[in-house]
Amino acid sequence: MNYLGNMIEFKLNEKENELAEEFLQEHRHPEVHKGAIGGHMEFKFIPTSVGDICIVKCSVCDSEKNITDYDSW
Ligand SMILES: [Zn+2]
Repeated sequence: MNYLGNMIEFKLNEKENELAEEFLQEHRHPEVHKGAIGGHMEFKFIPTSVGDICIVKCSVCDSEKNITDYDSW
């Protein structure tokens, strides 16, 4: 199994992108990241047999949000 190859396959659809963007705006933490957006965001993809679960995580305050668009499964 080409795991790295599979990793590259992960994509956010439009709805997931929107949710990720929302999360990003909520977690800009300007007090830590003087205007830079996104450097402290982690994306976790968990492949399942029916679809990919996508979780975005803010490494500044440690909060996570599941942005998976289950409707697209
Ligand atoms: Zn945060």
